[in-house]
Amino acid sequence: MVDVIVIGGGPAGLSAAVYTARADQETLVLDKGGGTTRGVDYMENFYGFPDGISGEEIVARGEAHATKFGAEIRREEVVRVADDDGHFVVETTDDEYEARGLVLATGASYETPAIADVDEYEGRGVSYCVECDAYFYRDRPVAVVGAGNYAAKEALMLLDYTDDVRVLTNGDAFDADPELADRLREHAVEVITDPVDRVAGEEELERVVLRSGESIGVDGLFVALGAAGGTDIAETLGIPQDGPYLRVDEDQSTTVDRVYAAGDLTGGNRQVATSIGEGADAAINLLESFRGTDYVDYRKLDA
Ligand SMILES: Cc1cc2nc3c(=O)[nH]c(=O)nc-3n(C[C@H](O)[C@H](O)[C@H](O)COP(=O)(O)OP(=O)(O)OC[C@H]3O[C@@H](n4cnc5c(N)ncnc54)[C@H](O)[C@@H]3O)c2cc1C
Repeated sequence: MVDVIVIGGGPAGLSAAVYTARADQETLVLDKGGGTTRGVDYMENFYGFPDGISGEEIVARGEAHATKFGAEIRREEVVRVADDDGHFVVETTDDEYEARGLVLATGASYETPAIADVDEYEGRGVSYCVECDAYFYRDRPVAVVGAGNYAAKEALMLLDYTDDVRVLTNGDAFDADPELADRLREHAVEVITDPVDRVAGEEELERVVLRSGESIGVDGLFVALGAAGGTDIAETLGIPQDGPYLRVDEDQSTTVDRVYAAGDLTGGNRQVATSIGEGADAAINLLESFRGTDYVDYRKLDA
């Protein structure tokens, strides 16, 4: 039996592993490879890397850091987790392991729109993250694909960077809350409900072509359809979800004792920096629960 099993070896999981391994807890990271971070070619908002860094390198550095302090990383896919009277049994495609505590950090996958050629322009105009990429489209025409509150909020966020923002519902009825819809109207953000046929451009994205044949010039297309959380494992433990995300408390704890969760899996701002912070919190508070003490909120201690 090990002390901690971290399921998922992206920034959230590896950050947790750095803390638990460094606290001398035997730590095993089970990671099937791939994931969101490794797929991002270039990030410009990651603290300490003003010239940008690739997701692949962020993960490689995290792996080196966690293993330096004794964490073991195995490239295996977890298929089931059971709570066995005070400890956890983790089954992978290759083996079975036991641990005193768990950190779940399996990430989330982003829903892609049913628009022809959209994959071809990913990273060349099509983006899944306003927070990450809006900066590259300052004062340029952009559109958001989506029909709900998520799309409306992303469109409002884009207004910090450009006045030329549209929302494309791709044939769905626009059903954002009235307050958000009003704010879009105030800022003259057009909501287009016609189905989109395809995206097009030479090297980079240049336009969206509607099924009616009309072309709309856009340099950036931001997809805001939602995400599929990596919540299957958590489901086997009966941990409740909020939509596609795992429900956690402010200390990253779940409803199951000594099971914590971090990163995209738990929703929030879905950034590398926030995932790393949540991973650290999850680990610190798991260590706290091993010691039989409660979450220490320094605001309360210092009050
Ligand atoms: C196109 C794009 C661009 C982005 N750009 C930026 C940016 O510029 N700046 C920024 O800060 N953020 C950016 N993000 C967001 C950022 O990549 C994520 O917030 C971050 O990667 C989340 O890290 P994570 O550790 O939660 O998940 P992940 O990196 O997805 O790691 C989860 C890991 O869990 C593993 N896993 C899943 N299920 C299992 C299982 N059953 N068994 C074993 N392993 C499993 C996966 O293989 C993966 O390795 C971007 C996202 C996208 C999609």
